[in-house]
Amino acid sequence: MRIDIVTLFPEMFAPLEHSIIQRARTAGHITVALHQLRDYATDKHRMVDDEPYGGGAGMLLKPEPAAAAVRAVQQMAVPRARVILMSPQGAPFSQAIAERLAGYPRLIVFCGHYEGIDERFVEALVDEEISIGDFVLTGGEIPAMALVDAVARLQPDVIDAASLEQESFTHGLLEAPHYTRPRTWEAMEVPAVLLSGHHAEIDRWRRRESLRRTALRRPDLLAQAELSPVDRRML
Ligand code: SAH
Repeated sequence: MRIDIVTLFPEMFAPLEHSIIQRARTAGHITVALHQLRDYATDKHRMVDDEPYGGGAGMLLKPEPAAAAVRAVQQMAVPRARVILMSPQGAPFSQAIAERLAGYPRLIVFCGHYEGIDERFVEALVDEEISIGDFVLTGGEIPAMALVDAVARLQPDVIDAASLEQESFTHGLLEAPHYTRPRTWEAMEVPAVLLSGHHAEIDRWRRRESLRRTALRRPDLLAQAELSPVDRRML
């Protein structure tokens, strides 16, 4: 999969050069390319922003450099990329959206900045707007990194398929708690069942804890989850 990111601040994307995402890039499981929006400004001052019509605080990204950038980046590879705008007004990002986006061969992720971007750019070029939550950040760079990370780790061979399978949200529930060595730490014991070697019982315990956590912390998720009759009895 290929992800192109259009931004005024490509140097902010250093976090994607570490750990699992960097390994996935080196192994060729995912290609991430950064594009400087300012390179697509056409006037002599390389202006990418301007004051909003109608007045109001802050600057807005102009439509022409943004459109030129997205169109040029579209031409750089095949097939056509789905164009995503990071925006606090977008659909709330979720594991389900990450899974859907992971299925596209190509994405272009556009990062807004300042007060946002001229609405005509959105109408003309954006396929979908995505928000990472109900709060406002200074730019789309951190949201874009969150999206790229979530999508990249779903590419084949980036993460062990078995760990993806059990994870929080994959089946609409939070994952059960985890423990590692030592067995006793600060007078706290690891739950005995996890030391038993009894796999069926461990699975049952994990399922119960997963249901318990979800019921206590995220009852909203539980209402949507696929539950078996056994699950319902445990609850
Ligand atoms: N004035 C805008 C907010 C602009 S924030 C409004 O009220 O809707 C500046 C840029 O940061 C946005 O264009 C977007 O790209 C990014 N951004 C801010 N918060 C975000 C969020 N929660 N999710 C995704 N992108 C966000």
